[in-house]
Amino acid sequence: EVYYQPIISLAERKVVGVEALLRWRHPQRGLIAPLEFLAAAEATGLIEPIGEWLLQRAGTQCRAWGEAGLGLRLAINLSPRQLSPARIKQIRRLLEASGLSAGQVHVEVSEAKVAERVEEIAPCLQELSEGGVSIALDDFTGRLPLMTLERLPLYSVKFDRSLVVRSQDQQEADRVRRGIQAAHSWGLETIAEGVEDERELDFLLSTPCRLGQGYLFGRPQPAEQLTPLLNRNDIFAASDE
Ligand code: C2E
Ligand code: CA
Ligand code: CA
Repeated sequence: EVYYQPIISLAERKVVGVEALLRWRHPQRGLIAPLEFLAAAEATGLIEPIGEWLLQRAGTQCRAWGEAGLGLRLAINLSPRQLSPARIKQIRRLLEASGLSAGQVHVEVSEAKVAERVEEIAPCLQELSEGGVSIALDDFTGRLPLMTLERLPLYSVKFDRSLVVRSQDQQEADRVRRGIQAAHSWGLETIAEGVEDERELDFLLSTPCRLGQGYLFGRPQPAEQLTPLLNRNDIFAASDE
């Protein structure tokens, strides 16, 4: 199944998009989170058909939201296994067939995974980017050297939840703020992940961080559950209930 988590513009408190997240509805074990099956899906290569299925499902859903007047960006996650020249061609074909505008699609790749294989991954990201897709560096903690970052066609940086948590410590807060400021000054869009409470949000509002995602705003959920929230102007009023 595909669950969707809202991505929020912090200043306007508005939903600007969703991240599509895989779930496995197992007949006996119930709903299984991706961290429990992704490694196996990657090792067996099953992540390729699953990833393409997700792209079609999420693309159809996003188009439906668009037809209902909700223009949202769609963020999807790609495993390194999906970042080979052959797979990228197929992904580009699927995106073109999805009826979404290229600018609407954001592809997320984790910083740690990019670090392992930057030589092979950078040209794949380049090809996606040339097709109009926005690239986000996911789970960013600042481990990639600047020289490497510069070689990637990045649109946004997703600051990992571990940094959001650390921002509650006074000294750490200044470091995290400088990181966000730096990304911002390089012209990158900044997104904070795993925002769970008002204190974390207050910190982020004191930085140039533009977007946020986390349990405070909404958990990953099925499209039918999320749709009523998307129709409301103030996501905070919705999550108070
Ligand atoms: P991710 O891309 O970093 O996705 C965000 C994860 O953080 C999600 O876990 C989400 O449920 C969780 N999260 C959201 N808000 C909060 C919060 O406020 N606090 C905390 N503690 N956690 C929060 P999920 O859905 O279990 O996904 C885990 C990872 O699985 C994702 O991490 C992503 O790397 C991978 N994944 C998910 N779907 C796909 C997919 O379709 N393809 C690929 N290749 N990987 C996927
Ligand atoms: Ca992600
Ligand atoms: Ca992440």
